[in-house]
Amino acid sequence: MPIRTGQEYLESLRSDDRAIYIDGERIKDVTKDKRTCMAAETMAELLDMQHDPKFSNKLTYTSPVSGDKVGITHLQCRSKEDIIARNDAIKIWMDATCGMLGRSPDYKNVMWAAYAAAADIFDRDVFKGAQNVRNYHEYVRENDSLMTHVLVNPQIDRSVPAHLQESDVVTRIVKETDEGVVVKGARMVATLCAMADEIVVMPAASRWPADVKVDKDEFSFGAAIPVSTPGLKFICRPSFSNINSDQVADYPFTLRYDESDGLAIFDNVLIPWERLFIHRDNEFDGEVTEKGQIFPHMVMQSVVRSTAKAEFMMALTFAIARMTKIDQHPAVQVVLAETIAIAEFTNTCRIAAEADAFETEHGIYSPGVSHLQTWMAMFWKMYNRQCEILNTLAAGGMVAAPSVDELAGEMKEIVETYFQAANADSETRTRLLRLAFDSSLSSFAGRQRLYEQYYLGDPNRTQSLWTRTYDKDSHIERIHNMLDDIKQRYEN
Ligand SMILES: Cc1cc2nc3c(=O)[nH]c(=O)nc-3n(C[C@H](O)[C@H](O)[C@H](O)COP(=O)(O)OP(=O)(O)OC[C@H]3O[C@@H](n4cnc5c(N)ncnc54)[C@H](O)[C@@H]3O)c2cc1C
Repeated sequence: MPIRTGQEYLESLRSDDRAIYIDGERIKDVTKDKRTCMAAETMAELLDMQHDPKFSNKLTYTSPVSGDKVGITHLQCRSKEDIIARNDAIKIWMDATCGMLGRSPDYKNVMWAAYAAAADIFDRDVFKGAQNVRNYHEYVRENDSLMTHVLVNPQIDRSVPAHLQESDVVTRIVKETDEGVVVKGARMVATLCAMADEIVVMPAASRWPADVKVDKDEFSFGAAIPVSTPGLKFICRPSFSNINSDQVADYPFTLRYDESDGLAIFDNVLIPWERLFIHRDNEFDGEVTEKGQIFPHMVMQSVVRSTAKAEFMMALTFAIARMTKIDQHPAVQVVLAETIAIAEFTNTCRIAAEADAFETEHGIYSPGVSHLQTWMAMFWKMYNRQCEILNTLAAGGMVAAPSVDELAGEMKEIVETYFQAANADSETRTRLLRLAFDSSLSSFAGRQRLYEQYYLGDPNRTQSLWTRTYDKDSHIERIHNMLDDIKQRYEN
């Protein structure tokens, strides 16, 4: 099947009877409910862009099996040029949504393309999962499916691995039948659960030291199933878009880009054998995951997304600063330089990772890893800083801007007079400030900050892992050589 239209996607959501709970009730139709419908439409628009003659050459390529047009973010890159082409496509989607969607289809597409290229690692003594991994890649590519994933065990007691606690909460295998395995328990957090077609469950991300012994194997599995699978339920946070306004101009992101986040509950869910990738294999994560080299692809998508996001935040901050001519003050120019540097930093990480792309043992090209690590250590903090700069420069205007309805209300003439600025009439100023508010100060914006901090895992743990694995010895040796050199040259 070729790329889907947005309409086809929305129709499939409408009829699949997924179990999405928000505010204590089950959403009957996510394409109609106020809390989810506009974000579903945004996802549909991304799919429609694949058909738009302006973008289709960049967003699609020819399927190696069907000859149909399929999404290029499924491409298994065979050269640097492929990586650049795939990144260009990601940038088109991300520019269209200002980098605000974490679970746009490209995120999981590039990951699963990498898993499929490395599929041999899934053929283990305990279970042969390789062909299932390859088949799933073909399935999602040919069906243009939107995927999400749940990689984290629920927060209960983080002083020990969740599956070592006396608890029935963690998702585990409870039964095996001729058809597959039955799993029960919870996983967090499923972003896009209200709108994704498929959910991928892989080993829980948190690594524990080797001396923490795990002797039960029912917690160790990897699989993918439709979001609408019977027994699979999602309890979501309240939707940001459930507000007392339908004015997109007042809440451009809140209303259109609230992807949904939910706790996934597996209530005796059957996973067919053909959708199982890892089965009762405690060593998989420690021994194998790294060999798959999935991480660079996942982070590469993030770098491109963040470039679109940082460039958007920079552009918006310029517009705000120009509006009241504060950009003429050197002190303001200094903070503008900071937001410029953040946007340039993200793009530099992209260019560097592309330039250092190399062929892996799995026969595909992978972006240069150290630049991605650098981005991962810094971007979430830089993004917070971009929000802070925008708030600082918009200052009181951020909360003194009225709703756009005021522009046509009974106070219209007063609003026209008193809400103008040196470089903007009252309408432009109001619209600009509403966009700035929704980008950096609204509930939606707060969730964006948290997302950037955590969606790739807890920085405390990922960054300490980077430090532990980084080649520090050669750098320390250089310092000692320098000390020796000084001693020899000047003290003998
Ligand atoms: C908006 C948003 C969307 C998300 N979407 C997804 C998604 O779609 N799919 C998905 O799988 N996950 C998703 N996540 C979850 C994300 O992967 C986790 O938030 C992340 O891995 C951190 O785990 P945690 O939230 O359980 O925090 P915890 O592990 O409970 O940590 C809480 C705090 O305690 C500290 N801490 C806990 N244990 C340790 C330790 N051993 N060593 C040092 N410090 C520790 C942490 O540093 C942190 O500050 C999302 C998260 C957010 C915020």
